[in-house]
Amino acid sequence: MNANAATLRRTKIIFTLGPATESEEMLEKIILAGGDIARLNMAHAKHDWVRTVIRRIRTVSKKIGREIAIMMDIKGPEIRTGDVAVPIELQPGEIFDFTVKPGGEREKSEEIRSVDVNYQNLVNDIKVGDTVLVDNGLIRLEVLAKNEAHIRCRVLIPGELKSKRHINLPGVKVNLPSFTEKDRGDTLVGIAEGIDFVALSFVREAKDIEGLREFLTANKSKAQIIAKIEDQSAIENLEEIVKVTDSVMVARGDLGIECPFEELPIIQRAAVHACLTHGKSVIIATHMLESMIGSPMPTRAEITDVANAVLEQADCVMLSGETTIGKYPVECVGILDKIARRIEHEISDHYDEPAVFTQEKMKVLRSAVVMANEIPHSHILTFTRLGFMARGLAALRPPRSPIFAFTPTVEVLRQLRILRAVEGFLLPFASDPDETISLAIHELQKSGHVKQGDKLIVVTDIVSNDRLIDSVQLRTVR
Ligand code: PGA
Ligand code: MN
Repeated sequence: MNANAATLRRTKIIFTLGPATESEEMLEKIILAGGDIARLNMAHAKHDWVRTVIRRIRTVSKKIGREIAIMMDIKGPEIRTGDVAVPIELQPGEIFDFTVKPGGEREKSEEIRSVDVNYQNLVNDIKVGDTVLVDNGLIRLEVLAKNEAHIRCRVLIPGELKSKRHINLPGVKVNLPSFTEKDRGDTLVGIAEGIDFVALSFVREAKDIEGLREFLTANKSKAQIIAKIEDQSAIENLEEIVKVTDSVMVARGDLGIECPFEELPIIQRAAVHACLTHGKSVIIATHMLESMIGSPMPTRAEITDVANAVLEQADCVMLSGETTIGKYPVECVGILDKIARRIEHEISDHYDEPAVFTQEKMKVLRSAVVMANEIPHSHILTFTRLGFMARGLAALRPPRSPIFAFTPTVEVLRQLRILRAVEGFLLPFASDPDETISLAIHELQKSGHVKQGDKLIVVTDIVSNDRLIDSVQLRTVR
C-alpha cells in the first residue's frame, strides 16, 4: 500500500490471523504495512473468535480508510490420530497399528502398539504397500496388512506420535466428503459475517468447487472460491478445477507431503500457468518466510522463493505461521513488500499476454492492455460493478501500468484485493458514464495516484444512442 502510483505494489499479500496479529493495534500495523487479505484458518478457529476478529478487521479498516478482504480457509476432509495418554516414541522398524471404530475385533497382541484414527473407511481406501505419513510428514510408515479393524504398518521414519496428529496418505483416494459438516457450520458463520473468500482445502475435482458454489448461492453469499491444491488428485484434475474456481492456492505445506518434494516447483509452475491461461487469480502459500517465525531476517533461500513467485506472476504471496504465532509479523509483510516491488520493477520491461480469452468483450480489454504497454507512464482506469472488467485486465498482466478499478460496492472492492496490479476504489456511479470518469480522475489526483499530464487508458461502458457499448479511451490528466 502506498499513495504513490509509481510505487504501487502489484503482488498482493495475504496474512493468516492468529495470536500474534489479532489485536486491533497489530491489525492496524499489518494493514498499514501492506496486508491485503486476512486469512482465518478454521483448523484452529472457534466461532466466537471468528465473529470477533471479522468485526475487528472491519472496524480497523474503516478507521484507517483501507478495506481489506477476509478469507475463511475451511479444513475440508482430514484424517487425524486419536488421543494417546502419553506420546508414543516410535522405533525404526517397529510394527504399529492404526485402528478404526467401530471396527471388527482386533487381533490381540501384547507387543504391537496402536492409535485410533477418526476415519472408519481408512481400512477400505488404503492398500498394502501404501505410505502413511503422520504429523506433517515427519513420521513415515508402510502398510503391511489390513483387516476391518486396523491397518498394520512398519515404521520407516520414526518419531514421537502425539494426540490428534494430521495423517497424509499420498496418492490414496480418500472417500471423505469434500465439504464436511464442520466446514458447513464454519462457512455459515463466515457468510453471516460477510467473508469475501472461502478457501476449500484438499479440493480433488471440479465437482467439489461446484458443490461449494451451490452452497454459497443457496445461502445468498457472493464470496469467491479459492481452490487449495494440496494433493495428487488436485494435480491430476488441475485444468478442470481451474476452469470452475475463482482462484487457486498452491498449498505447498500439504503438497510437499502428498507429492515427492522435488515435484513441488514443477507443480507450482504448472498451477500458476494454468491460472494465467484461464484468467484466474493464484496464490503461492506456505513457508515463504518460515524462518522469520523466530528470526528478524529471512534466509537467502526464502528471499529467492518469494522473488520466484513474483517472477512467475502470481497474484498473491501468503504468510501462515509467520503472522499467526511469529515474533515478527509486521516485519514479514514489510519484507514481502520490499522483495515484490524490487522484482516487479526488474521485470517491468518484459511482458507476455498469458490469458487466452475468446469472448469479444475480453478482446476490448486486451486492446486496452496493448495500449498501456506501449504508452510509457500510462495507467489503466476501469469501472466495474461485479469485478469482471478488473479481473480480465489483471489476467492480461500489464507489466507496468497499475489498474485503477472503481466500483460502487464495498464487497466488490474487497474482492479486488486478490488481483495482481489492481488498486480498488469505492465510487457511486453517476448516471452519465462521462461524469463517473471525471469523478474517478479527480479522486486519483486528490490521492496522488496520478498527476497532470499522465496518460490514462480508460476502459468503460459509454451510452451511445441509448445503448451501452464497451469503449477504450486514451485521456490525459488535466
Ligand atoms: P493449511 O494449508 O495451512 O490449511 O494446511 C496450506 C498448505 O497446506 O500449504
Ligand atoms: Mn494444507
